[in-house]
Amino acid sequence: MTALPSDLPSPAAPTAAASRRTFAIISHPDAGKTTLTEKLLFFAGAIHLAGHVKAHGERRRTQSDWMEIERARGISISSSVMTFERDGLTFNLLDTPGHQDFSEDTYRTLTAVDSAIMVIDAAKGIESQTRKLFEVCRLRDIPIITFINKIDREGLDPFALLDEIESTLALDVCPITWPVGMGTDFRGAYDLRENRFLKSESKPGAADGRTIPCSGIDDPQLDALVPERILASFRESAALALSAYPEFDLASYRGGHLTPVLFGSALKDCGVEELLRALGRIAPPPRPQPAEPRTVAPEEKAVTGFVFKMQANMDPNHRDRVAFMRLCSGRLKRGMKLRQVHSGKTITLQNPIFFFARERQLADEALPGDIIGIPNHGTLRVGDTLTEGEELRFTGIPNFAPEILRRVRLDDPMRAKQLKRALEDLAEEGVTQVFRPILGSQWIVGVVGQLQLEVLASRIATEYKIAMGFEMAPFEMARWVASDDPAVLKDFIERNRGSMAEDRDEAPVFLARDSWELNRTIRDWPKLRFLTTRERH
Ligand code: GDP
Repeated sequence: MTALPSDLPSPAAPTAAASRRTFAIISHPDAGKTTLTEKLLFFAGAIHLAGHVKAHGERRRTQSDWMEIERARGISISSSVMTFERDGLTFNLLDTPGHQDFSEDTYRTLTAVDSAIMVIDAAKGIESQTRKLFEVCRLRDIPIITFINKIDREGLDPFALLDEIESTLALDVCPITWPVGMGTDFRGAYDLRENRFLKSESKPGAADGRTIPCSGIDDPQLDALVPERILASFRESAALALSAYPEFDLASYRGGHLTPVLFGSALKDCGVEELLRALGRIAPPPRPQPAEPRTVAPEEKAVTGFVFKMQANMDPNHRDRVAFMRLCSGRLKRGMKLRQVHSGKTITLQNPIFFFARERQLADEALPGDIIGIPNHGTLRVGDTLTEGEELRFTGIPNFAPEILRRVRLDDPMRAKQLKRALEDLAEEGVTQVFRPILGSQWIVGVVGQLQLEVLASRIATEYKIAMGFEMAPFEMARWVASDDPAVLKDFIERNRGSMAEDRDEAPVFLARDSWELNRTIRDWPKLRFLTTRERH
């Protein structure tokens, strides 16, 4: 074991609640999230990469490759949660949906993590999707470790990349590893905190013998390993980096104000282990979760959790859904009964899914920070709080009033029933919101971004084999309507039948042509509440 770094603290023997690191990777498509995920699992010993060498070149891993690895190793890596263990810690990596899909689902997944890794392509710097996801992390002060990937290719100057993070994201930066040459000059990276040269080359996957402890960046050993020109340039820039940036500050990182930065190459296995170590040492254990009427601490004995994601169609032959719950406190055991707070219903956890590696699959206990899959037939909903009985509601799971409304055009009227089911399934997953106008038969979908419409159309086409399209709707805004006086509500609905719709729970929704109409209606009906999210009581 190499010495502990002076400024990256080693965790004390973790207590049960402190042994989890629940995190997500945020990035723009193509920055290397999939490759990095695979390498993190590999270095943690969770998978053996038969296809490791094949990863060279441009070959993309397909879903079936993942499935193959899953079957061989008995773990769920193509699914939304990947759990692995290392150094007595349990890491839960939550996947944020890939393929350009930027939906509410992505936001919600970030409510269930305690920290994030931001992957940046060294040639491209900060790209649009990374930025959006970063903003969501910032809303919740989620601490971020930055991994600047692909330094084995020609990229931007390291200082320029750090400047960009500082100026566009308003984050302090603290380099942890520094590139030793980039592109054709790439020879590896240097761990500035622990003084180790992370040599490139050699066989991929062979971590041994590639990490060379040094006395500092001037260590003469390096002269024998790195060509003179590349070494001179490295020493100059690394010396500048060491003097220009402050020491790592744990409180500042945990508060979401500073990001430690590692330069590396996921493809060439460079810096990945260091990333894993940093995650174990500095990333926060489960944090207290905001709830009404009180915040919940992970050390509490009673079990609490919230549902942040719903996945339907995991098995196309079953219409089952799996609710993903983040455990916030207590020890969850198989067979436990929990209360769904908003309905008062009791849910028995007969077959909770634990996303453990094979040897732990029979584990029947989960701890705060862990993610549990709960199979159900539609009882559970995104945003649900589950407790052992206490009236609690976890807050901060964002729900967005749709910004774009579209009518759904069905090409084959005989498929109306299938369309209904498809829309309801996908609404449940959080891909979209659906409204059924009281008059007329065309569904209206509501989304927060254009991309969601594309995802919706492609999933309906591929998973449900329904030919459909979108048309402009004569409405721009949707608001749930509620009132303490049922008679007033009924009167409002009667008078506005042409603008009323129901959501999938038959809750009334007012569709306004524009903001002027909405504002006038709000003024005219002071006894009604016009809500951007549905009231869940
Ligand atoms: P994702 O879309 O963010 O999941 O990105 P992928 O992991 O699929 O990677 C996108 C492309 O970049 C693939 O062709 C990878 O082989 C390649 N790639 C990923 N990491 C690296 C790296 O460190 N160096 C180089 N040269 N290519 C990489």
